[in-house]
Amino acid sequence: MKKNEIEPFFATLQAANPEPETELEYATPFELLAAVLLSAQATDVGVNKATRKLFPVANTPQAILDLGIEGLEGYIKTIGLYRSKAKHLMEACRMLVDLHGGEVPKTRAELEALPGVGRKTANVVLNVAFGEPTMAVDTHIFRVGNRTGLAPGKTPLEVEQKLMKRVPAEFRLHAHHWLILHGRYVCVARKPMCWKCAVAPYCDYKPKTPAP
Ligand code: SF4
Repeated sequence: MKKNEIEPFFATLQAANPEPETELEYATPFELLAAVLLSAQATDVGVNKATRKLFPVANTPQAILDLGIEGLEGYIKTIGLYRSKAKHLMEACRMLVDLHGGEVPKTRAELEALPGVGRKTANVVLNVAFGEPTMAVDTHIFRVGNRTGLAPGKTPLEVEQKLMKRVPAEFRLHAHHWLILHGRYVCVARKPMCWKCAVAPYCDYKPKTPAP
């Protein structure tokens, strides 16, 4: 993708969805952090189903600690890898209570120091909860970045760094949501739906998938 194609690429995605949002349901930074922790290798729909029951009962680090590990597992056992996720979430809650007064910290270093929180999760929290223009590169963004030529890279970090460099400032806050949704619904893994893709004129992928 040429430099001068990046602006119309994002302007097109923006026109279709001016205020993109995460599909995870949350009401506070802690609910978001917990939902993202639970969402690794699981669908947002599956996580929402569990948190709709969990959050009314426990939506603060202390309340989760009070549930105990077995109590927590009871709410999330429909989610893949629930045992290790429950363990990480409990440990993260412990740190939040002991070191951060029960609040979600606002720096990357403090977030990444929490058990189960990697760079991607930290990027989601910084972006969605605190409005920072970070790029949380998941499998969809990794694929779309490479396929389109927008941000080619061999690792998620390489794609993230290219995006930070190439995405114009005005689109940076929402860029990762536009790319995730585009990858989830149009530029899908198996066979991208190029025939109905609004950003096809700016995308390097060849040959484009024809209409079925
Ligand atoms: S044209 Fe095809 S490959 Fe390119 S972004 Fe659209 S769906 Fe993806």
